[in-house]
Amino acid sequence: MTTKAYTKPKPAKTKSGRQPEKWFRIFLWIVSFIFAGFLIGLGSKVVADLPMFTTNETTIEDFVADHSAYKKLQSERDDAENQKLGIDHEWEQKNHELITQQDTYANARESFDNWLATRSVTEQSDQNPEVIKRTGELDTLKAQESKLKHELEAIEKRQLDRRHTIENIENQISMMEADAMNDYNKYLNRTEFTVFMYRLVITLPLLILAWFLFRRYRHTNAWPFVWGFGFFATFVFFVELVPYLPNYGGYVRYGVGIIMTVFIGKYAIGAMNAYLERKRAEEALSSSERQSQMDYDEAHAKIARSICPSCERTLDFGNTDLDFCPHCGIHLFEHCSNCQTRKSAFNHYCFKCGLATKDLTSQMFDPAVASTKN
Ligand SMILES: [Zn+2]
Ligand SMILES: [Zn+2]
Repeated sequence: MTTKAYTKPKPAKTKSGRQPEKWFRIFLWIVSFIFAGFLIGLGSKVVADLPMFTTNETTIEDFVADHSAYKKLQSERDDAENQKLGIDHEWEQKNHELITQQDTYANARESFDNWLATRSVTEQSDQNPEVIKRTGELDTLKAQESKLKHELEAIEKRQLDRRHTIENIENQISMMEADAMNDYNKYLNRTEFTVFMYRLVITLPLLILAWFLFRRYRHTNAWPFVWGFGFFATFVFFVELVPYLPNYGGYVRYGVGIIMTVFIGKYAIGAMNAYLERKRAEEALSSSERQSQMDYDEAHAKIARSICPSCERTLDFGNTDLDFCPHCGIHLFEHCSNCQTRKSAFNHYCFKCGLATKDLTSQMFDPAVASTKN
């Protein structure tokens, strides 16, 4: 099997088994988040202070053909509305008067009926002057009531009239606005696009820089800052750029979504293939070559998670007969050449007798030699 010459991957931010290093790493992640937080704060301040991000006050009014006629209609409508408010007030007062009048009449009527009932039925009531007087008073009250009713009706007519006037003016206004709508929408789209382009011009270099730093420097000692900058760029992308994408009826948003998904998917597929390729190339090497290239702490960390340090498949490390990985053939356990204790082939020293195993690598990691020895 011919594969590309295996190259050792760039030294990652090595994970060692040393306890303090764990805490240093956690602390550095916190540093990375804090760094991102300050960058985000600074970025929002810069954006807020940029003149082109101030909200503008343009409305559809600025696009009507005859601006003075439009203004005149608006003030006419305001006048009519004010008049209508006055009439409404008048109506309420008059209505209140009418209700009071109706109560007064009802009370008078009731007291008259009671008075009539207490009188002797035999008495002639028609010609009785007292009866005539009281009936006359009731008639006057009734006449006042109907006068109030007429007045109220007159007010209602004026109300209706104002309402028609307002409707009429509003129709004219909306017709003028409908004519202006096209230009107004064009203006909105143009503004939306300009604002987005400004934002793109400012954020794109940041995003490209973040991408470049992430690809090149995330495995270096500066990784907390690279990640912090990456968080910042992600925030900028989703908060300062994506919401301002011109909409164009949803086309752009869905389009960008599709492009991004394809982009991320392609990257993931590429990463997976690169990983498999690397592993295949690695497995083509001899056990000792692989072992010498492997990171000491990383190998131990993988063994602790029951994973083969070379092919990264799960293994049963509880099995005391497990000396070689059945999948890739790497040497996992061996017997010390001095005291014969079974020990991890990745250890630098025998844990029983303290023999350094480094010088013996070629002999120990060759399965053929190992099998003849036992
Ligand atoms: Zn393996
Ligand atoms: Zn030993």
